[in-house]
Amino acid sequence: MDKKNIDWSNIGFGYIKTDKRYVSNYSNGKWDDGQIIDDDMITMSECACVLQYAQTIFEGLKAYTTKDGHIVVFRPDLNAERLANSAKRMEMPVFPVEKFIDSIEQVVRANEAYVPPYGTGASLYLRPYMFGINPVIGVKPADEFQYRVFTTPVGPYFKGGAKPLTIKISDFDRAAPKGTGYIKAGLNYAMSLHAIVTAHNEGFDENMYLDAATRTKVEETGGANFLFVTKDNKIVTPKSDSILPSITRRSLMTVAKDYLGLEVEEREVYLDEVKDFAECGLCGTAAVISPVGKINNHGEEICFPSGMDEMGPVTKKLYDTLTGIQMGRIEAPEGWIKTID
Ligand SMILES: *Cc1c(COP(=O)(O)O)cnc(C)c1O
Repeated sequence: MDKKNIDWSNIGFGYIKTDKRYVSNYSNGKWDDGQIIDDDMITMSECACVLQYAQTIFEGLKAYTTKDGHIVVFRPDLNAERLANSAKRMEMPVFPVEKFIDSIEQVVRANEAYVPPYGTGASLYLRPYMFGINPVIGVKPADEFQYRVFTTPVGPYFKGGAKPLTIKISDFDRAAPKGTGYIKAGLNYAMSLHAIVTAHNEGFDENMYLDAATRTKVEETGGANFLFVTKDNKIVTPKSDSILPSITRRSLMTVAKDYLGLEVEEREVYLDEVKDFAECGLCGTAAVISPVGKINNHGEEICFPSGMDEMGPVTKKLYDTLTGIQMGRIEAPEGWIKTID
């Protein structure tokens, strides 16, 4: 298939409309068959539950071209499972795993011309989401829902190499104990907007959120999990019920253990001990790992030995191995790569 005439290596991280999207509707207690459509606009009641009470959840994953020319997606079964967990917490119907995988295959095939070629660093970002669409004014869940998947080509996250980030300890909280921090819901992002704008205005790239109950333990950023490397090369990631279980982070922990032979630990991480780590990174689908060089705690700086010029050596190995697996340069664990074509 002919690819679209796009300067793949130079597109950024904005929304670019593609030709096709997938839609499925839920009413009378069941999902319809779902279909690929052209229309990118959604018409709904002014009183739709999503508009009034933010009943909406989403996922994010990427399709890309491997070294040998296949179009693949990375561990979509985990996105399906996470969307199901989000739906349960938000009183929404589960979109079945098989239907989810099918929707991903259909939408990628329909937008094949937008899947960037191998070697450009670009990929086709896939955004599955679901929202309550019927009118609701007394507070209760919707009973009609729409599930959609749109796609948008995104450029290499780090143009010209990954520069370490400077982040701040946020004075705002992201998620409450027993709240919704562990699901991928729009509401978690709505309340993070003021915090991120504040951080940016102060010259920081990101926020580090602490646990809301004691403000002594590391949770995550607005959209990425933390991964630390100890001075003796152990990988440590914070454990908490209010962290969103990042698929990238979970995959990196497996890569660290099974491919790099490193010790891995998921445990509570106190802010007090962060100064003792050798490296720090943020994990998520968008960048895989963004290195953190510096953390500002109300004026007091924690500077990692890896510095502000490049990724730390262990972070780099993790990054190279996982992206190698994704791009088909390194053999993947069973079931990690789903081929579409
Ligand atoms: C999506 C998300 C992540 C990253 O998850 P991945 O599955 O690795 O993309 C981390 N934290 C939050 C809050 C998120 O919403």
